[in-house]
Amino acid sequence: MTLAQIGVDVRQAGQGDAVRGVVPRWVALPTSVEEIAAVLRACAEQDLAVTPAGGRTKLGWAASPERCDVLLDLSRMDALLEHAAGDLVVRAQAGLPMDALAAALADKGQELALDVPPGWGATVGGTLAAGLAGPRAFRYGTARDLLIGVTVVLADGTIARSGGKVVKNVAGYDLGKLFTGSYGTLGVIAEATFRLHPLPAGRRWVVAEPDAAEVPAVAAALATAQAEPSAVEVDRPRQDGPVALAALVEGTAAEARAEALREIVGSGTVTAEPPAWWGRIPPGETLAEARFPPAATGAVLEAAGTALRGSPVSGRMLLATDERLGVSTLRKAVEEHGGRVVVLRTPDDDVDRWGQVSALGLMRRVKERFDPGRRMSPGRFVGGL
Ligand SMILES: Cc1cc2nc3c(=O)[nH]c(=O)nc-3n(C[C@H](O)[C@H](O)[C@H](O)COP(=O)(O)OP(=O)(O)OC[C@H]3O[C@@H](n4cnc5c(N)ncnc54)[C@H](O)[C@@H]3O)c2cc1C
Repeated sequence: MTLAQIGVDVRQAGQGDAVRGVVPRWVALPTSVEEIAAVLRACAEQDLAVTPAGGRTKLGWAASPERCDVLLDLSRMDALLEHAAGDLVVRAQAGLPMDALAAALADKGQELALDVPPGWGATVGGTLAAGLAGPRAFRYGTARDLLIGVTVVLADGTIARSGGKVVKNVAGYDLGKLFTGSYGTLGVIAEATFRLHPLPAGRRWVVAEPDAAEVPAVAAALATAQAEPSAVEVDRPRQDGPVALAALVEGTAAEARAEALREIVGSGTVTAEPPAWWGRIPPGETLAEARFPPAATGAVLEAAGTALRGSPVSGRMLLATDERLGVSTLRKAVEEHGGRVVVLRTPDDDVDRWGQVSALGLMRRVKERFDPGRRMSPGRFVGGL
């Protein structure tokens, strides 16, 4: 059956639908899991390549797809399906904007603790597929940890649910873990179920500007402090500039606990609002992410010849620059300390985005199992998967 015959809304694509310079032929706008499956079955029959899209804020991240015939736009799948407030669980369609989700949960005094900043238009599915971690991942874990169930549609149109009835080609795989950070290369996330948290009674930030050389020791002391911060972040807007440090406490007696953290830092102010940079992606044409053991914070601060922002206690920093990123030198320095560097966004197509990935063999086998025809966003991911 052709795309025109399946009864799903499909329109001609234009320049505005390009995925990193690759203009698809059609945009499909499914309204249900079954419609996604119908689109993918039709694409499989005609060997059409597909890229899923949510709020389209990060379609320019990762490499360009080798080919893209159909942009599978999830904007019409924007329903909040079920909020079991008593169980602290929510189930939503993948196209639901994160802002709408946050507003609905806040009405009931709850939140999804992912720190997606408001106003960007990110969707549930895009947030999972891009897999960024925010400041409070230190306390609550990442999207991967907060995701408790997922419904996906594979390249051949098979609908698979984690924890659901066993589907032959995905038996034994943890779908939620695989699809988080998959950039649309394994299939389409159709629905997601998350674990929630009650909105905390209070929040306070300690904001300071410690001596750059002291940041690793201060961060390590904060990480184990009795006042139990939910997050500790640093921001260095210029390579050779000062480092701002902010720590967040949430819950009861937030003011007193923040004061206790301020004493550990040795300076700073306690505020009820985060600093403007908190949880935001730092500006710059090229953006890379370093992940590393927290003990390597000092080495990462030294090796990064860029602006940076992120968590010394979770071992995760975003590095941003408008200049050329010396990625191989940086990667070598971070890898020496047990970390790794991934280039998330760059105008330079020759950059080695991923570096050596030890699990590449496993990832190839997963791709082969889920998408043997290489039609889901081919070439966008590690090793050209
Ligand atoms: C802690 C944190 C901080 C953030 N800070 C910022 C910030 O400062 N600025 C900012 O702009 N954004 C920020 N974000 C938002 C986030 O980075 C992206 O906007 C969001 O993850 C992408 O959502 P999207 O719906 O726009 O996805 P898109 O841009 O549409 O897609 C992103 C990728 O996911 C794939 N994809 C999308 N939907 C699906 C699906 N249903 N199934 C499979 N694959 C899919 C696409 O193919 C693409 O590869 C932050 C997020 C977090 C968690």
